[in-house]
Amino acid sequence: MLLSVQNLRVKYGNIEALHGISFHVNRGEIVTLIGANGAGKTTTLLSIMRLPPPEAPKVVEGDILYEGQSILGWETHDVVRKLHMDLSPEGRRIFGNLTVMENLILATYARKDGEEAIARDLDRVLSLFPRMSERRKQRSESLSGGEQQMLAVGRAIMTGCDFILLDEPSMGLAPLLMYEMFRTLKKLNELGLTILLIEQNAKVALNFAHRGYVLDTGEIKTSGTAEELKHDPEVKKAYLGG
Ligand code: ATP
Repeated sequence: MLLSVQNLRVKYGNIEALHGISFHVNRGEIVTLIGANGAGKTTTLLSIMRLPPPEAPKVVEGDILYEGQSILGWETHDVVRKLHMDLSPEGRRIFGNLTVMENLILATYARKDGEEAIARDLDRVLSLFPRMSERRKQRSESLSGGEQQMLAVGRAIMTGCDFILLDEPSMGLAPLLMYEMFRTLKKLNELGLTILLIEQNAKVALNFAHRGYVLDTGEIKTSGTAEELKHDPEVKKAYLGG
């Protein structure tokens, strides 16, 4: 088991946003957390990322284990090194005053797998997102919202890490591009990348993931394989448009 969230209870001040949720991600899996607005998806990710207060929700009970070790005492930068996160849309973790190419290259700084692997991933990103290739010299802050989203996912790929957390990567992308992006992420998964995907678009998420959890107002309501969830009458009614 790569990541295990155990009975996590989380508060913002006096307001409890997660009421004791548990889920896990095995190495090599694509797991999705789906849920409506305000369900607690972002709160879950922020808790995992161990952001310092006051931005971060406070964990009041439970634990988060990475490879069996509690990460509650970790600093965010250590978590980022291990579990690369692609945050969207508020903080896409791109550097606005740098060009597209500079952002992609910067994401590789901690890699140790050599130039060949980096060049291969760069090729992959630029062919996945030809728009990034066209805009490689453009300052990132002047990209459109959807283009910044592509760059954020591109950066996540360029880190070469083996586990990424994706927060609504589909947001702002036109459908064709979104499917293309999920296809590429699937290929990366087949090559060994483990993915935790947070999505409001349950249909897209369940077509992409192996397993999923349904989060509803701070609680896990149901879980199962993507196939099971797709055919679950409650899930169909509430999240898949009947
Ligand atoms: P969305 O899909 O709309 O982004 P979400 O599932 O990511 O929703 P969260 O952002 O995790 O939901 O919010 C969960 C709950 O916590 C909501 O009721 C929200 O109002 C509350 N919440 C989030 N951030 C804060 C904060 N900084 N202070 C107080 N309450 C917060």
